[in-house]
Amino acid sequence: MLQGSERCLWCHEYFDGEIGWKWMVGLSGQTKLCPLCSAQLKKMEEISCEECGRPNLGAPAEGTCHDCVRWKKVAPWDTKAFHHRALYYYDPFIQEVLTALKYRGDVALGELFSPDLKSLGKKIGSFDFVTYIPLKEGRHWERGFNQAEVLARSFAAKPLVERVGVSSNKQSKRTREERILAMKNAFVLSVEGRKENYSGKRILIVDDIYTTGATLRSAASLFYEAGAEFVAAVTVARAVGSKARKKMK
Ligand SMILES: [Zn+2]
Ligand SMILES: [Zn+2]
Repeated sequence: MLQGSERCLWCHEYFDGEIGWKWMVGLSGQTKLCPLCSAQLKKMEEISCEECGRPNLGAPAEGTCHDCVRWKKVAPWDTKAFHHRALYYYDPFIQEVLTALKYRGDVALGELFSPDLKSLGKKIGSFDFVTYIPLKEGRHWERGFNQAEVLARSFAAKPLVERVGVSSNKQSKRTREERILAMKNAFVLSVEGRKENYSGKRILIVDDIYTTGATLRSAASLFYEAGAEFVAAVTVARAVGSKARKKMK
């Protein structure tokens, strides 16, 4: 095993920070995971869709992917751009890391991903406001914190958005059209969010996982309706396989 003074946030082995996270993972150059663990995180590198950040899975570059083209039939996406980028592919390893960190507490989770999300945001551009996707009522109390809020800690993020009481229990059984309609009304601007003026402004939304993009698009549309110039989103991991496809049906 590697010797060193840094302790891996995931497996707790000690390792030499110089050869760890920096070269395998960190956009920010932070050393938080040992080389073995960081090598398991699959970085999102080649993008095939400029809008949703769909990765290039060996197919030729598409420009705008099929999903994004379909979204353009629904306001505000007929006239506004959607922009999303993720740090990693969503796979069983990152699912395990995210799930375990949820229950381990907020500190490790924030340390591991928030600085890199900030770097990812900077690559997109500058923003006037940064916010995050709120938890569903109740979940906050079970866990004690909102994962998306923790991930947004490296930013001066504000709780600009809140959920309205739409049950999404049957979400997975809905058709794509029903999901879009339901998600469209899933959020409102929060009390704090209503105090701000978004006219001509740039807004960044932080969340943990991107599956279909419906949640992020729903929150983003609030800002576009309020006159924002550009709304983008960053997440830790993006689903791309059969899981995402199943959800899109
Ligand atoms: Zn490790
Ligand atoms: Zn796309």
